[in-house]
Amino acid sequence: MDYFLTEEQKEMVEIAALIGKEKIVPVMEECDENERFPTEVYAEFAKADLCGVAIPEAYGGLGFGAFEQVLVIEELCRYDAGIGLALAATGLGTLPILLTGSEEQKRKFLPGIASGETITAFGLTESGAGSDAGAMKTTAVKDGDSYILNGSKCFITNGGDAHLYTVIAKTDPSKGSRGASAFIVEKGTAGFSFGKKEKKLGIRSSSTREIIFSDCRIPKENLIAREGMGFIVALKTLDNSRPGVAAQALGIAQGALDDAARYSKERIQFGAPISSIQAVQHLLADMATKTEAARALIYQTAKMIDGGSKNFKKEASMSKLFASDVAMEVTTNAIQVMGGYGYMKDYPTQRRFRDAKITQIYEGTNQIQRNEIANALLKEYC
Ligand SMILES: Cc1cc2nc3c(=O)[nH]c(=O)nc-3n(C[C@H](O)[C@H](O)[C@H](O)COP(=O)(O)OP(=O)(O)OC[C@H]3O[C@@H](n4cnc5c(N)ncnc54)[C@H](O)[C@@H]3O)c2cc1C
Repeated sequence: MDYFLTEEQKEMVEIAALIGKEKIVPVMEECDENERFPTEVYAEFAKADLCGVAIPEAYGGLGFGAFEQVLVIEELCRYDAGIGLALAATGLGTLPILLTGSEEQKRKFLPGIASGETITAFGLTESGAGSDAGAMKTTAVKDGDSYILNGSKCFITNGGDAHLYTVIAKTDPSKGSRGASAFIVEKGTAGFSFGKKEKKLGIRSSSTREIIFSDCRIPKENLIAREGMGFIVALKTLDNSRPGVAAQALGIAQGALDDAARYSKERIQFGAPISSIQAVQHLLADMATKTEAARALIYQTAKMIDGGSKNFKKEASMSKLFASDVAMEVTTNAIQVMGGYGYMKDYPTQRRFRDAKITQIYEGTNQIQRNEIANALLKEYC
């Protein structure tokens, strides 16, 4: 389908594809096998200016928007979603500052992120507070010119490798979700440490760690927005980042479709390529149709964001829900098309299948996305 990309957008996709071919492909299996964070590939993202795609020029970025960010994430994840996630999760960790940070915070932190020197992460989830984020126990207590943080966040993407963490903590636990606030915590701050790196099914080159606060004192200037606005910051962040998760899923699905279609033309059974078998063709046709439908939904949602729409929550959830379900289905069927070879580590398809699963879980499970869609939908009928 032709999305009439501008020359600049096409160039950005080409740059991401070149990094994919030349820098990701040579290390992706090793990073997956050894659960290694791709520091050297991140440096290539930085060199190619991909870290600042959606950061305004005033703060050292390229000044593009959600659409261009989606294009880049999709293309990188077409090669390897775990490696692409290093950049996507930095996007997530940056959004609280970009969307709701003060001018001073933007000037202080965004240029480093745009240049690729600073990797970021977002800390909302806790062991007892996943879908029910309001149940979080981490606290931030005001003490003179500082806040003192205590508690821990689990499953934090880029945890340990990131230099900057945007974190939600309770400043007034008696007020429930209205008592949470958002903070910026820099790696190296006394009282801020990391738990063990999680071992995972997929996105194994992405680091996932617990982050721990023990009397961690941060300057009051690191409060994002105002006290009590933590959940508003988190919800805004997630609404804006869900098309990015959808783009990861889309890249995974497209990569799996590429694997299966190519393989079907090479594999001879019964004296002919399996691509001549209608049952195989129908699988490929469904995979391609659903992948393209996901792309159209995601691109249009990103364009709503860039167009200044105030209300894209439903579409952001729809994008994430649909694209992640498509990624799971397409990767499953890609292995089916490839038979036993698709199941083997000699091909990247099994990795895409393992990577697809997380897109149905993080940044709100798909059950939570359905709740969000239904809530928004039913309001339209009041
Ligand atoms: C690899 C990985 C990376 C992650 N990265 C980050 C990160 O960078 N930052 C961060 O803050 N978090 C991160 N997370 C956390 C992630 O967002 C949560 O795992 C997710 O929101 C689900 O929470 P949970 O795992 O506690 O599941 P639970 O909330 O315990 O859910 C378990 C099941 O119950 C269902 N369920 C729960 N409540 C409802 C409901 N109200 N309606 C319908 N169904 C419901 C869920 O859909 C799910 O099927 C990451 C997780 C993983 C696995």
